[in-house]
Formats: sequence, C-alpha cells, structure tokens
Amino acid sequence: MIDHIDEIREDFPILKREMNGYPVDYLDNSATTLKPKAMIDEVVRYYTYLGANAHRGDYEMSAQVDYAYEGARKTTAEFINAARKEEIVFTSGTTESLNLLAMMITNQLLHEGDVVLSTETEHASSILPWQQAGYDKKVSVNFIPLTKEGRLTIDNFKKALEDNPTTKVVAVAQVSNVLGYTAPIKEMAKIAHEKGILLVVDGAQSVAHMPIDVQDLDCDFFCFSGHKMCGPTGIGVLYGKFELLEKLHPMIFGGESNARFYKYEALVLKRTPYKYESGTMPIEGALGMAAAMRYLKKIGLENIHEYELELKQHFLERYEKELKDKVTIYNAENGCGIITFNVFDHGKLIFPQDMASFLSSKGIAVRSGQHCAKLMGDLIKAPGTVRASIYFYNTMEDIDRLVDALKEASFENT
Ligand code: PLP
Repeated sequence: MIDHIDEIREDFPILKREMNGYPVDYLDNSATTLKPKAMIDEVVRYYTYLGANAHRGDYEMSAQVDYAYEGARKTTAEFINAARKEEIVFTSGTTESLNLLAMMITNQLLHEGDVVLSTETEHASSILPWQQAGYDKKVSVNFIPLTKEGRLTIDNFKKALEDNPTTKVVAVAQVSNVLGYTAPIKEMAKIAHEKGILLVVDGAQSVAHMPIDVQDLDCDFFCFSGHKMCGPTGIGVLYGKFELLEKLHPMIFGGESNARFYKYEALVLKRTPYKYESGTMPIEGALGMAAAMRYLKKIGLENIHEYELELKQHFLERYEKELKDKVTIYNAENGCGIITFNVFDHGKLIFPQDMASFLSSKGIAVRSGQHCAKLMGDLIKAPGTVRASIYFYNTMEDIDRLVDALKEASFENT
C-alpha cells in the first residue's frame, strides 16, 4: 500500500516545476520516469567524490570506484533475482542490449532458414535488431498472431511455433509499451525450452512496475533501461544466464574486456561479464541505477503495482460516467498503469498529437503517436493514439486533471 504519497513526491525535485503555468502532471512514465533525489545524489557523489575510472587504477580512489561499480552490479542482480552478479552486463540501455543480443545470437548460433518469433506490438528495438542481423544470413522474423485486443496468449504462441518449426529464438516484451498487456513469459519459457528455443525478454516496461524474478521466469535473457526505473539515462542491463553469456562471443572490443592480445594470435578475453564491457562504462549511470533500485525496493514493487492500478481504476470509474461518449480506450483490462486512448469530437478523431499539445497547455504530459511500435496499425485502426502512463508518484488529482481536460477537449480548442 502507498499511503505516504506527499512524502514520496518530496523525493522528486522536478515535481516542484511547472509546465505552461500549471504544476506538472507527469503521465509519460513509459517514455521515461522522473528521478528521486537519492538517485541524483548518488550521481553527484560519483562526480564530486569518487571520480576515477573503474577497473583500471591501483590507487585508493580507483579501488573505491571498483567497489561501488561492482556493488551496483550486485544490487542489479538482486533486484531481478539473478543467480549471480556475473549474469549482469551493463549497457547503455534496452536498445543496446537487444541489438547486442540480436547480433551475437544471429551471427553465432543461427543458420539460414531459422526463424525469430516476435509480435506486432513490439517496440522497434525488439524487432529491428533481429531483422537487420538476420537479413544477410536469411534468418527471418515472423510474428505470433495476437488476439483482437492485442494480447499474446499461450494458444497463439503454440500455434506460431507449429507454423514456424525452425524457430530458434523468441523475442518479446514482457509488457507492451503501447497496450500494456503482460506476456505469459514463464509459460512461454517452458514451452520454448522444451524445443531448444531461446527466450529473449524486453523488460523495459515491466522491471519498474512489478517484482521481477528472472530465475522464476526462466527466460534466457532479460533487457532493460535505467531511465525507465528512476535511474539515469545512458545505462541499462543485459541479463543473461551465465552459461549463455559464457558461450557467446562479444560484439564490441577494446580496453578492459581483454585479458591479453597479441600481434597475430587470437585475443584472450576477460571473464563474463567483463568481456562484454569494453571501454569506459557509464559508471555514474550504474551507481545511479543501483540507487534507484534501492529506492524502488524501499517503496516496494508490489505496492507500486497496486497503487498504479488504484489510480487507473479511478480513471476508469470517471471514464464510465463522464468520458465514454467521446473517448475510446484500447486497453482498459491490461492490468497495468498504461492507458491508451483516442478522443473524438462528434464522432471525429482528434489527432493524437493535437490532443497531446492540448493536454500540455494544461500542464499534463502524455505521449502521442505510434510509440515506436509501427506495426500496430492493423490492430488499432487509427493513425496513432494518446498514451497516459502512471507511476507511483502520480496522484488522484493528476488523474482528475487528465479527465477534466479530456472532457473539455474539442476541435475548437485543440
Ligand atoms: N522496449 C520497450 C518496450 C520500450 O518501451 C522501450 C522504450 O520506450 C524500449 C524497448 C527502448 O528503450 P531505450 O530507449 O531505453 O533503449
């Protein structure tokens, strides 16, 4: 339960600012989250006190950085219940993690005619890397059919596997960034593993909103970004089962990932996960993300999830009474805080970008457009949607302001 919302909001300095003369009503949390002071302080601590590079120096300051950086890896492993901290590779974010995986797996483990299964609701970062990596090798990306609301079900998954017997990888989001449905990852992992298929999970939209246990999910890889979980931009995670990370060869080479190299002989790499971390890493990012994880854990991921649903329920109740005639919601039953909708004036669509600008004029931040999921057009018969995404620092008043603004919206004022 979250019963100290005022205290929580004090933790977020940015909530003191205004947008267009109103206190900011930030409902774009799927794009990125706001940052608590505990996280900001940790980044500042790195730059004002620690300062040195990681895994390079033999002096005290440098050892302190090593300790903090490896501590961040341990915190991250614990946050998603990885079996060991060596299963955590730091990257710049979900996009880099998924690109690295697509390149490594396609180049090293797949063959002509193999299939990567995905869905039409995926973010570009979970489809394009596989398409690009597979193009020359003739590895294709095929799509699991979804229900008419856009859900991924086990029946549809099984059917797609039957239709694509050469599937070697399944790459899907745990929670869709457009519709917010949760994929049945644990059951999918069981079915995939019975057939020797790897399961790569895009956790960008789930990791900050529900407890994640990668051992329980039994996925092979799990990728996410710090900035979507109250952490800094420029840091993210590629989690992989240790034996798989051991088996794969990195894609990026340079300082610190190698143990030795020679003029003409093969390079000797460092151990996992260091073989994947070439060059100077976003050290302050890793430290800041770990501070954000500690902060989220203190609030409780269960509490966060429950609170988001409470706020969403409040929106839905007011929607039923006051908005039903002019607003279409595409995902009321998705079980998370993402509300995707369009607004109509006398039956005619108000263009989503116009709606977002109108809401901005009232101090309300939402996302509009296709949300980087450009294959979704067939599922939602509209040029785009408006997405309000809730997080634990939002309030009932934030929701009321959104509803009141939607009631007011018309062609004349958008
Ligand atoms: N996957 C999903 C489901 C997302 O929502 C996003 C970002 O919106 C990404 C991947 C890409 O994340 P990033 O831009 O942090 O790499």
